[in-house]
Amino acid sequence: MFALQFDGLNRQGELRPDSQAIEALINLAETRFLPVFQQQLACFNATQSTEQTNHADDADNKKSYQLQWLTKQQLLSHVEKIEAKHLIYLGKVEQQPFFSYRLQSPSASLIANQNTEWLGLRQLFKQLEPQQAYLANVAIAIEHWHNTHQHCGYCGQPTFAQDSGFVRTCSNKDCAKQHFPRTDAAVICAITYQDQILLGRQANWPENRWSVIAGFVEPGESLEQAVAREALEEAGVTVNNIKYFASQPWPFPQSLMVGFTAEAQNEQITLKDQELEQARWFSREEVNNLVQQQKLLLPFRYSISRALVENWRNSGY
Ligand SMILES: [Zn+2]
Repeated sequence: MFALQFDGLNRQGELRPDSQAIEALINLAETRFLPVFQQQLACFNATQSTEQTNHADDADNKKSYQLQWLTKQQLLSHVEKIEAKHLIYLGKVEQQPFFSYRLQSPSASLIANQNTEWLGLRQLFKQLEPQQAYLANVAIAIEHWHNTHQHCGYCGQPTFAQDSGFVRTCSNKDCAKQHFPRTDAAVICAITYQDQILLGRQANWPENRWSVIAGFVEPGESLEQAVAREALEEAGVTVNNIKYFASQPWPFPQSLMVGFTAEAQNEQITLKDQELEQARWFSREEVNNLVQQQKLLLPFRYSISRALVENWRNSGY
């Protein structure tokens, strides 16, 4: 339905602390390794060999890339040795194990390879197949966490990676706190009033771009409370009948978008905080007409925000 959805990865969390089991996986012929360096992924430019899909609203699709999965031998041609502290066990898809490998410096041999380009997830995820986009997402999200948790938040001493990349432990023996990958929850909500939907736009968005209401969950808050607060803060709208819709990992850098629908109790809109430049109600007919005239740019096609709008356009509520 939307990007970064894939149900086929068995993360095998129980294997992560088992160094013998991980070593055995590393040595399997079918195992593949994805080099990651500073939030970028090693890719092949496959533009010549792959026909394009025509997503008119995705400018990134002019080029086609594939992730550069390496065999163990190929990885060893780029690094002196495979070190456990740089290895992240992503899991297996069917019977094939996948790791990412956090390069500590740009591998000269990889960079010299004319077919290799280093790309961020934003450039990639719209055009990769679901399985590949999902694995890239996990690899990038965990690398970001490693990059930003090099020191212990309790005592300030350096941390080191454990458990196949899913734990960082403080090197100060008097502290020894364990740190785990974090995910920031954000809510996103299609708010309706009778047959209209509430869309807003931020001042720095492209002209004619509108989307549904969204915001981060605050400490101590339930998801439903976050929806109600954001609706009130951003548009002065009181909502009820808040219902869960779906969720989408959003690793820019480490969010989880949790989607809802809700009904407004008042039609009057008041921009209370300054997050939105404009917010107003749109009827289905108006959305259809404006989209057709290209005077309304909805969120990009694989986002949960777009899915929320399309769900409303296609339903009777
Ligand atoms: Zn510490």
